[in-house]
Amino acid sequence: MKLHEYQSKSIFAKYGIPIPKGRVATTATEARQIAEELGGRVVVKSQVLVGGRGKAGGIRLAKSPKEAEELATQILGMEIKGLPVRKVLIDEAANIEQEIYLGITNDRAARRPVIMASAAGGVEIEEVARTSPEKIIKVHIDPLLGLRDFQSRDIAAGIDLPRDNWKEFARISLGLWRAYSENDATLAEINPLVITKDKHLVAVDGKMLIDDNALFRHADLAEMRDLDEEAGAETEARKYGLSFIKLDGQIGCMVNGAGLAMTTMDIVKLFNGEPANFLDIGGGANADKVAAALRIILSDNNVKVILINIFGGITRCDEVAKGILVALEEVKPKIPMVVRLVGTNSEEGIQLLAKAKMITANTLADAAQKSVLAAQGS
Ligand code: GDP
Ligand code: MN
Repeated sequence: MKLHEYQSKSIFAKYGIPIPKGRVATTATEARQIAEELGGRVVVKSQVLVGGRGKAGGIRLAKSPKEAEELATQILGMEIKGLPVRKVLIDEAANIEQEIYLGITNDRAARRPVIMASAAGGVEIEEVARTSPEKIIKVHIDPLLGLRDFQSRDIAAGIDLPRDNWKEFARISLGLWRAYSENDATLAEINPLVITKDKHLVAVDGKMLIDDNALFRHADLAEMRDLDEEAGAETEARKYGLSFIKLDGQIGCMVNGAGLAMTTMDIVKLFNGEPANFLDIGGGANADKVAAALRIILSDNNVKVILINIFGGITRCDEVAKGILVALEEVKPKIPMVVRLVGTNSEEGIQLLAKAKMITANTLADAAQKSVLAAQGS
């Protein structure tokens, strides 16, 4: 789950990270009032769940409450990378001397969290990572020991941070580590962490991603989910307990089991097809779930064919087939469907589905090839 900037920064503040004074507005009038309270010089910041807002014109400095109102009117009418701006954060403007990057994420290859920092922070950090990766300092964190003081000092030295800011920096990086680990985040990032003209550190931007599988133990974070801002298909999938991730291909995949779903995608690619999604419908033959899965797959206009790959172990294949038939009555897809069904009572299941004019396949390779052909329109 992605958190908005204002949500991430409010979490950062709880861990002692200095953030600018500010509040969220949903109207331009409210934006002006907040700017008045803050003394006039503010930054008006679109709250959408994508990066690069600054470059898209969604982050603007205002010199007066009146200008804040005007900019808020503009920004509240914008779409950034397809997402409508419904909220703006009005923050006291910082006087920036230098922009630093500071972030923590999981390094899968090293099997531990990694804290990264760069003196060349701000909106060009992706460019820095690509063209001069040596400008990004990385230090791995032992999850049981947490971030140690000497590590913070190593990073501070590595990015040539002025000595006077080392203490502050150690407090901020420790706060960021705690915000990351205590909230089961997969990313906690401050970009930029700025050195102000009066030589203090302030987190001007904030971004957090929370592990969805840990949300059950963070009711307060789960409540922060912004349904307005996330793709409709993902909200729908969650409601039915489906694991769904949209991709860019043409072959919609409906599979039971995450491992089998991954394998299905691999085999589709092996035959030069592109999966349109990852979708695990889980166990059981529940027609409601199957129908929801079909609706979600079909809501993507790129999808040219649906590939259903089911292994019936405890759930019998004929029951799965019946579930699919009930769902088909409701959803009525107009595109070809290829089905591979193996396991207990698979023959009965396949017979039921063949009657419904579905293309049946005996092996996964066969199913993938038939799907690729169907997607090409032959
Ligand atoms: P992003 O583009 O989505 O990462 O949004 P940021 O919040 O990081 O803002 C983008 C850029 O706007 C920053 O890198 C800063 O250069 C600038 N910016 C943001 N807030 C302030 C501020 O309070 N004062 C000044 N002078 N610049 C700011
Ligand atoms: Mn930023």
